[in-house]
Amino acid sequence: MTTSLQNSALAYLGCSGEPDASTLSLLEKAERELAAVASFRHLRCRLTDLPALPDFLAKECYGQLRTYLPEASLYVATLGLETDRLIRRKSANRLAEAVTLNALANAWLDMEVERTAENGEVLFCPGYSGTDFSDNIEILNALNATKLLGIHTAPSGIMIPEKSVAGIMVRGFRFTCKGCLIQSKCEYLKQKKTCYTNR
Ligand code: SF4
Repeated sequence: MTTSLQNSALAYLGCSGEPDASTLSLLEKAERELAAVASFRHLRCRLTDLPALPDFLAKECYGQLRTYLPEASLYVATLGLETDRLIRRKSANRLAEAVTLNALANAWLDMEVERTAENGEVLFCPGYSGTDFSDNIEILNALNATKLLGIHTAPSGIMIPEKSVAGIMVRGFRFTCKGCLIQSKCEYLKQKKTCYTNR
């Protein structure tokens, strides 16, 4: 019987159904190793407590969030650099372990984000629904995340540590493709996926 964390990792791996014994063993090993190095930390701040609304939220692609913003918070979280380093070390000569660990770390980060969500909040991340991944930079700056959590961003919005996530915590919001500005050319839908499940 697999745990919900393992099931989520399997989804990241693109696997469905019950895992075989060797996959389960890889998942169990990855979980033990991740537990030893992962250092989950997060920051959040209500938008109403900021001196001004971040500029990126004025973009049309964030229109679906507008009614939720009075109750929303900026949010950032990370598993820390040691998780990245462990995945990188494994990638050198233990590829199956590295791939499993990478998927489990994604699932672990999701689990921690859900644990720290309040009253049914969900995390809307830049990159969803045609929004720009580089908007992560404004979120990290507003939360002072480089100084407080050691998260750095490239101009593209990619974060280091890699197992980090940033976004807007919104209460009562439901993800949907309805009304998405890029629906007609969405690469996720062509692959029968969505942008808001399994990063
Ligand atoms: S999966 Fe849906 S919401 Fe996401 S970009 Fe595609 S159409 Fe938009």
